[in-house]
Amino acid sequence: MKMKRAMDTDLRTRSIDATTKIVGVIGYPVAHSLSPQMHNSAFAHLGLNYVYLAWEVEPSKLEWAIEGVRGLGIVGLNVTIPHKERVARLLDELSEEAEMVGAVNTIHNVDDKLLGYNTDVEGFRRALGEEVRGKRAVVLGAGGAGKAVVYALVSDGASCIILNRTEGKAKELMQRYKELGDVSAGEFNASNLRKALSEADILVNATPLGMKGEVIEGVEGALGEHLIVMDLVYNPRETPLLRLARERGARVVEGWKMLLYQGAFSFEIWTGKKAPLEVMAKVLQKKLYGI
Ligand code: NAP
Repeated sequence: MKMKRAMDTDLRTRSIDATTKIVGVIGYPVAHSLSPQMHNSAFAHLGLNYVYLAWEVEPSKLEWAIEGVRGLGIVGLNVTIPHKERVARLLDELSEEAEMVGAVNTIHNVDDKLLGYNTDVEGFRRALGEEVRGKRAVVLGAGGAGKAVVYALVSDGASCIILNRTEGKAKELMQRYKELGDVSAGEFNASNLRKALSEADILVNATPLGMKGEVIEGVEGALGEHLIVMDLVYNPRETPLLRLARERGARVVEGWKMLLYQGAFSFEIWTGKKAPLEVMAKVLQKKLYGI
């Protein structure tokens, strides 16, 4: 029977048994996560006996969940909203990135010692794929994603202007990273953006603007071939910002690439193996864009 064959194939590729290693994601909510399909396809592709699950963990149960990682010998976790900041205090060691950003999105359990990483930083670096030393960057947004992006840019030697709707938060971020390099901050409005872009090499949107088709005021007229424009918004794939940037000849980086590379880096931390990027990218693109 067709159905039975499909099930057999699935079980063969998954080969879950008493030695299967467990990884997964915790968040609240978590049902929207694309990580289970992305990682499980990668494990199956490489024939690794791992399984990736998703657990919806209420904030009041975070401590229990982390004790469960030790108790059950879970190999690793991805951590998503709202636990990324609070979980850091429950771990044994943090990577430099996690420490500096103040957020953990990946945990690795090494002999009951829980190590915390922030793979958004490396995910951003790999997605951008550009030497940024000496370049001038403008980052829109000072939330969780903005923190990781500004850290990646400044620690790699770029200068950075952070523009945020709530100016105070941009200033806080500036204070956090000012020891690392040249960071300044201001309010996110059309005139500040135009001014900042007049001398910029890189523009990163780390706000949700564009998800609903919003056009970012102040970019029109300021985009050109000299710019690299990255939008962290990955749905739609081509936001109004990216469309405009493409039309003006800028180099464009789509947001799903950061999702891919942060996942690939988590995969490498847990398994010690190179992530099968093509397989993971295919799953992501199918789930996000139906292609
Ligand atoms: P967050 O922590 O909630 O921060 C949101 C940021 O956007 C804040 O700086 C906020 O400003 C600003 N913002 C929100 N609405 C705005 C508006 N209408 N106009 C101007 N600014 C606005 O969220 P996040 O985790 O940083 O995520 C930001 C975006 O990046 C989301 O769309 C998310 O899906 C995307 N993201 C993508 C990836 C990827 O891998 N591609 C990874 C992480 C996040 P205030 O401080 O004034 O509130």
